[in-house]
Amino acid sequence: MTCGTALLSLSHWLLVLGISSLPHPLPEISSARASLFRVPTHHRHTLPSPSFSSNPSTPLHSCKNCKRIFSDYIILYSLPPVLLMAATIVPAHAAFFGAKKEIGARASFSPSISAHRCRKHALNKVLAVMSPTQPSRAPSTTGSVKHGMTMTEKILAKSSDRSKLEPGENIWVNIDVLMTHDVCGPGTIGIFKKEFGKNAKVWDREKIVIIPDHYIFTSDERANRNVDIIRDFALEQNIKYFYDIKDLSNFKVNPDYKGVCHVALAQEGHCRPGEVLLGTDSHTCNAGAFGQFATGIGNTDAGFVMGTGKLLLKVPPTMQFVLDGEMPHYLLAKDLILQIIGEITVAGATYKSMEFVGSTVESLNMEERMTLCNMVVEAGGKNGVVPPDETTFKYLEGKTSLNYEPVYSDESAKFISEYRFDVSKLEPVVAKPHSPDNRALARECKDVKIDRVYIGSCTGGKTEDFMAAAKVFLASGKKVKVPTFLVPATQKVWMDLYSLPVPGSGGKTCSQIFEEAGCDTPASPSCGACLGGPRDTYARMNEPMVCVSTTNRNFPGRMGHKEGQIYLASPYTAAASALTGYVTDPREFL
Ligand code: SF4
Repeated sequence: MTCGTALLSLSHWLLVLGISSLPHPLPEISSARASLFRVPTHHRHTLPSPSFSSNPSTPLHSCKNCKRIFSDYIILYSLPPVLLMAATIVPAHAAFFGAKKEIGARASFSPSISAHRCRKHALNKVLAVMSPTQPSRAPSTTGSVKHGMTMTEKILAKSSDRSKLEPGENIWVNIDVLMTHDVCGPGTIGIFKKEFGKNAKVWDREKIVIIPDHYIFTSDERANRNVDIIRDFALEQNIKYFYDIKDLSNFKVNPDYKGVCHVALAQEGHCRPGEVLLGTDSHTCNAGAFGQFATGIGNTDAGFVMGTGKLLLKVPPTMQFVLDGEMPHYLLAKDLILQIIGEITVAGATYKSMEFVGSTVESLNMEERMTLCNMVVEAGGKNGVVPPDETTFKYLEGKTSLNYEPVYSDESAKFISEYRFDVSKLEPVVAKPHSPDNRALARECKDVKIDRVYIGSCTGGKTEDFMAAAKVFLASGKKVKVPTFLVPATQKVWMDLYSLPVPGSGGKTCSQIFEEAGCDTPASPSCGACLGGPRDTYARMNEPMVCVSTTNRNFPGRMGHKEGQIYLASPYTAAASALTGYVTDPREFL
């Protein structure tokens, strides 16, 4: 036994003893997770010699005989040590949280005690404290599965090295990208440091994306401090993708700065088909437009992912939405998703995947597909997906050098429900205050007088959104009747507004058309007033006003004042409403 192995064995016993004294459930772990029991009995193989490694390429557990890689664990906090040993189990989370101080290892190492039993190759003893690093991926299950699975199930199967799985199963998923921002980043970092140690290192500095975007252009000290915290952490950890902003006086002198995370993730090539992206923001589901499994998580989970690259996820069942028919020229994807949410309600897709297919979806460009997936969470959805196609692949050209592998639902896949829409028959809609499912036809709200219009956010602040608004202003040739605020999602969108010609305008850019229509000058890219933010946030509703907005939420207080009234709408409807001062169906101008 080498000194290292002896140390590990000692550590193991310390861990076992430590585990027995831990409260049940552990305070850092949700009760749902703590009650999960998984016994690694479905494969009983011989593990390699005791080993310890912090090498990121080292698999978790690799069987000498069949070469399968194991990542299954069991959580049994309440068992006494003797039973823990007798049962030869792996208490993953308990070891993870309980061991850090005893081991004192670097943070890409989240220690687990491995004790396996194999009938053929008996090895009935504690083997090692091993480093659960990212295993090399098994081949995609695309086209090779024996039973039907949906896209979401396939992505999760691939990412958990499973050949099949069922909705409702809890699985350990290997994460491809973890995103956090200035609001949740400090909390995530705090949990990471607390649980892994103050000198801990993240599991993979190239798979973490940190994006300041929410409360940026403000003098609020706490907001500014948040950005300082994520900057310090990014420097300390040498995070490869940190889109910093240092000079708040002029965003253009910050070449690394992007803007709203979900749009930046897409523009910077982090949204790739077949992968898993988690983010500390509920609209992370935006990336489902690329056929990626993307969902929002809390700070505690993100802290765990930061240290291990893994997360325990429950496989959601999938609802399918079939959108067929030619899209009328006065509709945008925002109308489609508001229509759907109005149909199924804000709880209609709770912890379900929403898969969007059909000829209409295929005709949408990537930014419109993002709008569709962005608001999945407004229906309670776990994630949304659009099958990747040539439009997807073309968008990704030049944005990523990483290989990706799209997956698609099998014909025999089981969907929990199916909704069909003939898009050609739909009309422009809005979501009235104070819920995204409070759907109404735009023309039914023509008597609603408004105080302002806001065009921006991850949902409605992309280049195509501004192009759509400009189209309405151009067609009308009129000036706006209420203050109209324009907040590009990212620096790239901002540049597009000043450089791309609007089709049919004779070469005019969006910025020129907006200026002629009397809109405010496009603001610095960020989340802006979508989330209210500090009181000095641009376009924040500091008074009880009525606003038509291309954002995604209209709860009381969402854009500032708690008595503000927000009508969620497409960029077409928002621009048309700006021209009349009332909620207006864009067909009046298009
Ligand atoms: S733009 Fe709004 S919805 Fe999107 S990430 Fe920012 S605050 Fe959230």
